[in-house]
Amino acid sequence: MKNKNPEYIDYLNEVGELLKKQGDDYKEIKILEKPQKAVEVSVPVLMDDGELKVFTAYRVQYSNARGPYKGGLRYHPQVDLAEVKSLAFWMSIKCAVADIPYGGSKGGVEVDPKVLSEGELERLTRGYVRAMAKNIGVKEDIPAPDVYTTPQIMAWFMDEYSQIKGENTPAIVTGKPIEVGGSLGRDTATAQGGFYVLENVLENFEDIQLGASIAVNGFGNAGANFAEIAEKGGYKVVAVSDSKGGIFKEDGLDVKAVMKHKEKTGSVLDMTGAKNISNEELLALEVDVLVPAALENVIHKDNAGNVKAKIILELANGPVTKEASGALFKKGVTIIPDVLANSGGVVVSYFEWVQNLQNFYWSGSEVQSKLKPKMNKATNDIWQFREENKVDMRTAAYALAIKKILEAVKVRGI
Ligand code: NAD
Repeated sequence: MKNKNPEYIDYLNEVGELLKKQGDDYKEIKILEKPQKAVEVSVPVLMDDGELKVFTAYRVQYSNARGPYKGGLRYHPQVDLAEVKSLAFWMSIKCAVADIPYGGSKGGVEVDPKVLSEGELERLTRGYVRAMAKNIGVKEDIPAPDVYTTPQIMAWFMDEYSQIKGENTPAIVTGKPIEVGGSLGRDTATAQGGFYVLENVLENFEDIQLGASIAVNGFGNAGANFAEIAEKGGYKVVAVSDSKGGIFKEDGLDVKAVMKHKEKTGSVLDMTGAKNISNEELLALEVDVLVPAALENVIHKDNAGNVKAKIILELANGPVTKEASGALFKKGVTIIPDVLANSGGVVVSYFEWVQNLQNFYWSGSEVQSKLKPKMNKATNDIWQFREENKVDMRTAAYALAIKKILEAVKVRGI
């Protein structure tokens, strides 16, 4: 039996129908059913104990109609080619949503990075760069951090690629440390962008005011920074979680203190003054805004009915399944889709790349002043399309993005 279509193909077909109804019948939409290129490589790594391990790694380049491929590199034991293809598709959409001149790609290594030493991680990263060097480039495909890949990993990436090229090449990768060409504001960009988007959307909700309650699932780069920014912005962060579980405090957590506690103990659990809860309990909390900021598919058909939040801000990629999205839309829950909610990260990645190419660097406030209007414009365009077409924000975002990509394909020619 033939495999079922991946979820993004269903979305693509739905948007195709919607655009057709509006009088835009693009034959080019077929091109978006497949990635332009998918590469699988093996990366041999000599482990500290002398054993040789061979890791499977991927890079999928989905579309470069609007500019060079752009997308993160993920280190996770469950990474596979199908997942990387989906993520690469979403990157193409996300770059179009944010209106930055990039296409979309994604990379992944099937590995549990938590059990690797620093030296092993470095050798794995350098091996990945050597294996992929012919497929990437500053004007071809520019990787970035994703789940369990850090600025340090990006620095090794840039160093290895620079050695291969024989010249300093900071623009090959974004999310680098400041010392080697990173942008100010990149570390908090996903969270900051998500916060601008949320504030913009909340302007349409008279019943949700400043001080509204927020629960964050996933306390890593995106989730922890978001929690801190939201708390500073006057919201009440009542719950956060990581892979081990979550914590809840009705009158609001002290996010800085939770960060320190996680740094010391390795988890958010057992925080003084807060109650331990499970990740499932966190998703079902009675809060104004739920922020999934960990892995995919955490909200699915079996637990969507438990969600009591009015708004879901998808900081993670693909945290709500298609089925759950439909059910929540019917229930009146507003889902701010990942391609908008977490696009601040790729926008500041783009700013980093621009600074690298110019070899001229901006202040933190310059970065913020360029990020905010981009997020506001993307949010307002999507909100307007949603209102005019009576669809959810996700459909609106995809329709606008796919139209932009197809227009680029059309004018370039097939
Ligand atoms: P990260 O590795 O820094 O953090 C991931 C967090 O999720 C950790 O706190 C981890 O403990 C937690 N986690 C793992 N499994 C979990 C589970 N089953 N339940 C609850 N929590 C769990 O990763 P990140 O960079 O914050 O990325 C998180 C998500 O945001 C991913 O979907 C990523 O694709 C997306 N994203 C991140 C960025 C960025 O700039 N960091 C940009 C765009 C999208």
